[in-house]
Amino acid sequence: EAYFACKGAKESDVMETFLKLTKQVGGLADVVTGLGKALQTKGHLVEIVLPKYDCMQLDQITNLKVLDVVIQSYFDGNLFSNNVWTGTVEGLPVYFIEPQHPSKFFWRAQYYGEHDDFKCYSYFSRAALELLYQSGKKIDIIHCHDWQTAFVAPLYWDIYATRGFSSARICFTCHNFEYQGTAPAPDLSYCGLDVEQLDRPDRMQDNAHGRINVAKGGIVYSNIVTTVSPTYALEVRSEGGRGLQDTLKMHSRKFVGILNGIDTGTWNPSTDRFLAVQYSATDLQGKAANKAFLRKQLGLYSEDASQPLVACITRLVPQKGLHLIRHAIYKTAELEGQFVLLGSSPVPHIQREFEGVADQFQKNNNIRLILKYDEALSHCIYAASDMFIIPSMFEPCGLTQMIAMRYGSVPIVRQTGGLCDSVFDFDDETIPVELRNGFTFARTDEQDLSSCLERAFSYYSRKPMVWKQLVQKDMQIDFSWDSPASQYENLYQSAVAQARGAAQT
Ligand code: ADP
Repeated sequence: EAYFACKGAKESDVMETFLKLTKQVGGLADVVTGLGKALQTKGHLVEIVLPKYDCMQLDQITNLKVLDVVIQSYFDGNLFSNNVWTGTVEGLPVYFIEPQHPSKFFWRAQYYGEHDDFKCYSYFSRAALELLYQSGKKIDIIHCHDWQTAFVAPLYWDIYATRGFSSARICFTCHNFEYQGTAPAPDLSYCGLDVEQLDRPDRMQDNAHGRINVAKGGIVYSNIVTTVSPTYALEVRSEGGRGLQDTLKMHSRKFVGILNGIDTGTWNPSTDRFLAVQYSATDLQGKAANKAFLRKQLGLYSEDASQPLVACITRLVPQKGLHLIRHAIYKTAELEGQFVLLGSSPVPHIQREFEGVADQFQKNNNIRLILKYDEALSHCIYAASDMFIIPSMFEPCGLTQMIAMRYGSVPIVRQTGGLCDSVFDFDDETIPVELRNGFTFARTDEQDLSSCLERAFSYYSRKPMVWKQLVQKDMQIDFSWDSPASQYENLYQSAVAQARGAAQT
């Protein structure tokens, strides 16, 4: 408490700049909230800056009000006014920027995916920095998430640091190198950046396309660069880097991978209000009750209460290994298990393809595909399932394997990215026994997944006591933000110490 009070009295330590408030847009919102809350618990003052999207879930925000200041920010040769709103999300203070611009940025009934995303986010990055600058706060760290806010790094050093706003150090986290934010070079000038200076191979020029690359700018101009797991940090130094590998290699001294945590308050089977029955590692009766309940709810009939239930909860995009997800459904049917898929796709032909599979199994007692986003149902599926499948082609971190384990659903995953850092094969003798917590396979063909699934089924049916111990062990693993937040804290502290050292010399 004393520690908290004493540190809480400080000026702003960490100004998080992030984008996505609702969970429908993927894991990033979970990450920023989880990291922010953990840093706050450690005594730091964390504030978040977001666009004021028209489609935000307002019921998640308390005390939302507009401030009586207007921030002027530069865009494409003019100054525009921005209203600034404040509110609290899960205990974290948030500033919402509402641009008064004719293009109606962030007033599109969706978060992103617009033809002018590059403009929207370069506008937002500039306005967010202007807000921090005009607030007069003494900020230690500005932490930018993904390319949409990476404009902040070059803007800060090229424009704001020279105006005396120079106490902060910049941390850039790339959550997925698939998305880098590229555009024709002249577009960079909208937010006031100097195209001639930046359109160079060692700065923001894209390594392949003769365009400008914002994620590259984030890497080159930040003091700290992170991604979301140690294995993915290695992968992106080669092909996984999608063209940025050489840039990452060049800047490797400031680049690290830190495995995300999960929000263990939200994801807690012993308090989860979405569940029919709460349960814990020492009382697995409750888990069985959730399984019976879900079966009833979804019309999955079984004479055998212990018939294994395999689940998959995912965005249906190529990254997630669509052919292997399909294969897992057929293979589970062949092995006489039950399968539940909860997923939706932003890509119409993929959504249709899975609707086809769903129709095929409509009258089957063992297979259900629910092709929508449904948070409440996701909790029930984590709780009800015995196994959880994640056959991703690549996976920067992945949250679902950690959530699944916390709910006693044993993960079956492809060895890639963050899955390598969190799931260790039960039969792999090169790994200490206490770490082994699931089943893994390496290749992207159906055969490797099949034999992995067979191994899991075999333990489940032939060695129920071993399985039960595995479930209990998985439920007790610490996937909280505690340790990752400490790692970020160490990075922030050494960047701040270096900055102070430099200021004194
Ligand atoms: P990504 O960010 O690539 O989508 P992650 O594993 O990092 O993947 O995070 C996915 C998050 O979204 C998890 O919390 C998962 O439970 C949730 N999720 C994904 N699809 C659905 C869905 N159809 N319904 C409910 N929750 C979903």
